Amino acid sequence: MQMQMIENTLTFTNPFTQALPADPETENTRRQVQNALYSRVRPQPVAAPHLIAFSHEVAQQLGLSQEDITSPTFTQVFSGNKILSGMDPHATCYGGHQFGNWAGQLGDGRAINLGEVATDDGHLMLQLKGAGPTPYSRSADGLAVLRSSVREFLCSEAMYHLGIPTTRALSLIGTGEQVMRDVLYDGHPALEPGAVVCRVSSSFVRFGHFQMLAARNEIDLLRQFADYIIKTEFPHLRPANPQDGYVRFFNEVCERTADLMVHWMRVGFVHGVMNTDNMSIIGETIDYGPYGWLEDFDPNWTPNTTDAQHRRYRYAQQPAIGQWNLLQLANALAPLLDSPKPLETALTDYARYYERRWQEMMAQKLGLPAYDADLVTRLLNILPREEMDMTWCFRLLATVNPAQPDAWQHLNPAYYQGAPRQPDLIKSWQAWLGQYHQVLDQQGVSPEQRRDKMNAVNPKYVLRNYLAQLAIDAAEQGDYSRVNQTLEVLRHPYDEQPEHENYAAKRPEWARTRAGCSMLSCSS
Ligand code: AMP
Ligand code: MG
Repeated sequence: MQMQMIENTLTFTNPFTQALPADPETENTRRQVQNALYSRVRPQPVAAPHLIAFSHEVAQQLGLSQEDITSPTFTQVFSGNKILSGMDPHATCYGGHQFGNWAGQLGDGRAINLGEVATDDGHLMLQLKGAGPTPYSRSADGLAVLRSSVREFLCSEAMYHLGIPTTRALSLIGTGEQVMRDVLYDGHPALEPGAVVCRVSSSFVRFGHFQMLAARNEIDLLRQFADYIIKTEFPHLRPANPQDGYVRFFNEVCERTADLMVHWMRVGFVHGVMNTDNMSIIGETIDYGPYGWLEDFDPNWTPNTTDAQHRRYRYAQQPAIGQWNLLQLANALAPLLDSPKPLETALTDYARYYERRWQEMMAQKLGLPAYDADLVTRLLNILPREEMDMTWCFRLLATVNPAQPDAWQHLNPAYYQGAPRQPDLIKSWQAWLGQYHQVLDQQGVSPEQRRDKMNAVNPKYVLRNYLAQLAIDAAEQGDYSRVNQTLEVLRHPYDEQPEHENYAAKRPEWARTRAGCSMLSCSS
């Protein structure tokens, strides 16, 4: 009966697998896959699936009721134990540049697309992450642990509620099985509880899909694939001819990527692994691995220990890496064009477009109608001088009265030491607040207008690294209430939630050096 309900609600149309060529091999063996975009593969059944958390909004988007979600059938289907009729499970083939080097074929090694459903305004692909090996799993097991699945689930929903393009998470399901992982890469593997997240997006296609086809010189398929993606994900482009279409498509990917970088910079999000296989063609945040949130404002910070030496993916470098990744995408698309010139122009435009959007964003963060270069530059020099919490800083700036001589003290709670220490830094704040006062005056901004506008772009609640870890610690003990409460709080990141003040607290001292809070690796 219940099975019937979910099946009736979800209508699978599967345009991706209908339109694009499949790998003819259907055995689930690891291999190189040529002349195909995907391989059909079934999720690996699990012992004792149980629902840990789900997203109301995503369920609603799919037309699933509370009853559907809490039915045993739901848990069976979204753990990979049951395939509904109409589903067409498959893993896709892509390559990518990892940390600047071409890595060849990667592919969905631990993701299985179940199928695509039609929605009121388009289509959504449902994807299980951690549902067992695929032809692209290389030497790994295709599984995911509870720890990394909680992080993926909570952060994708948190990003959505922050107003940032992202893949979504429908559900987080424990598998009742144990998975072996070496968390610290130090030769001490241990068993951890396994889990599966059902991710949802219009498309999980990455820059690396295009790169793989170009690298294999499968140009006809590259063209077919590009045409397909333009038609299904960028239908508004309506190009006059194919060449025009590829250029407009690339331009739009550049703009969406720039917009995404601006968002990440606004909220202090550091993705951690901006490899080209982790760059969404539709401009969403994708693949939540060793990501982190800036606590003290350190532009050089990266949460990813795998990248500790070169810090390629550090906070401040993300927009430039976005451009580098787009250059790799341009190289992949070039065989479709008579001349690469328009792609080069688009890459130059990316930098200009990013700069303009970043300036608008910084003006908004300060509650100003117009960007003021000197004011912003000076602020960005002050923030990293002593450990100052980025999130707290901008929330406090919204209520500071810069006309008062001791206004700088209003910012004390943002400092990890309780207040700025160096007299010189206090002087810098005094001078800056004086200048802020003047600029606000010149631009005719009243305090009330400023506060509400600033609070609408400067979140109070973000998924601080230690908050994710606290949710994980409880979940690993079988207590899922903290995961669910964290999700609830993060559904309203810009609101004051006096009853949840503890979720806004700066990183406690114990979290400074604890694995999972300050140090994360790609292994999950
Ligand atoms: P990521 O660092 O998560 O972007 O993963 C890079 C590549 O490794 C992708 O092709 C993943 O599918 C693959 N991968 C990561 N973890 C696993 C795993 N546990 N099993 C199989 N493949 C994996
Ligand atoms: Mg990835």
